[in-house]
Amino acid sequence: MLRNKRSLRIIPFILVLSFVFIGCGVQNEQTQAEQEGHTTGIFAMDTYITLTAYGAQAETALKHSEIKIKELESLWSVTDESSEIYRVNHNGGTAVEVSTVTAEILDFTIKMAEQTNGTLDPTIYPVLAAWGFTTGTYRIPAENELSELLQHIDYEKISIEGNCITLPDRMQIDLGAVGKGYAGDIISELMKEQGVSSALLDIGGNIQMIGAKPDGSKWRLGIKSAFGDGNYGVLEAEDCAAITSGGYERYFTGTDGQRYWHIIDPDTGYPADSGLISVLIVAKEGKLCDALSTAIFVMGLEDAENYWKEKGGFEMLLVTEENEIYLTEGIENDFTLNEEYLNMKVYVIER
Ligand code: ADP
Ligand code: MG
Repeated sequence: MLRNKRSLRIIPFILVLSFVFIGCGVQNEQTQAEQEGHTTGIFAMDTYITLTAYGAQAETALKHSEIKIKELESLWSVTDESSEIYRVNHNGGTAVEVSTVTAEILDFTIKMAEQTNGTLDPTIYPVLAAWGFTTGTYRIPAENELSELLQHIDYEKISIEGNCITLPDRMQIDLGAVGKGYAGDIISELMKEQGVSSALLDIGGNIQMIGAKPDGSKWRLGIKSAFGDGNYGVLEAEDCAAITSGGYERYFTGTDGQRYWHIIDPDTGYPADSGLISVLIVAKEGKLCDALSTAIFVMGLEDAENYWKEKGGFEMLLVTEENEIYLTEGIENDFTLNEEYLNMKVYVIER
């Protein structure tokens, strides 16, 4: 239900217990019960992945998960010439038959692009490449170069018939904005099928949880500050995904001294400049979180609020350039500000 009244209120200061925070991104804070868990580290999908599972089936489930992640990477890589996505991108406008899982992720991504009014657009890849984000050789493209490239950015032109994908010549797709969340869902399912009821998947700072911690309590996730080091807060969660898109995650500083990051506004071809510097989405499914974290980063605060009120099915925590936090009411009680960050204003978005 939409209400006319814009209802934001400041959360009273919350007293915080002090914790040891480690690493970066959204992380698992747990240390004690980890002793009983099994952990696997993998480098895949251009990121570090740490899978921790508990129980008798943990080791076997982790082995299967690692194989599955590698398999998905080999299907979805934009650079691997033998991947399905590479073939779709280099087939001169003719159809390519892909596996069911690839057709499904693409179908999901296109649906999310429609729902988010094209703020998510999997055909953004040529623009991303022009900025050098695909190679690390960063540059600021000229206006006319971007406007020329933008003519070939349009998810509506992707055709899916069964498992056959056709992409017009000169267009390229990239599943970078949803692939990790989607893979996390597949791994979660696989682990559950193998009998795992407690696990924590850290896919490049994106967290997906199976159940609760082995002792039955919620997982405690440290949330990285966009400014400087450290974590500004803790989110308690279980059996869901918590996925972040941040302007501070992958960026370069231009010769003009400005920061340019890897999330592109498909309307302009420039890095999204919506006033948000970090977007954390919490929902049951990783694929929804991942798609929305990117889309909402592009949308900005006001559209994000409207989207949440209209669509629901997820919670979000947004950080603005002014370093203010806006979080939706469903996670208000699960979020605690860290002691050193009590000066951050926290607003709750209510329905
Ligand atoms: P990360 O991959 O760093 O966790 P995201 O989930 O937000 O962060 O995905 C960013 C990636 O998505 C970029 O590296 C790029 O491959 C792709 N991308 C950038 N902008 C968009 C966009 N507007 N729509 C779809 N994909 C995008
Ligand atoms: Mg994303």
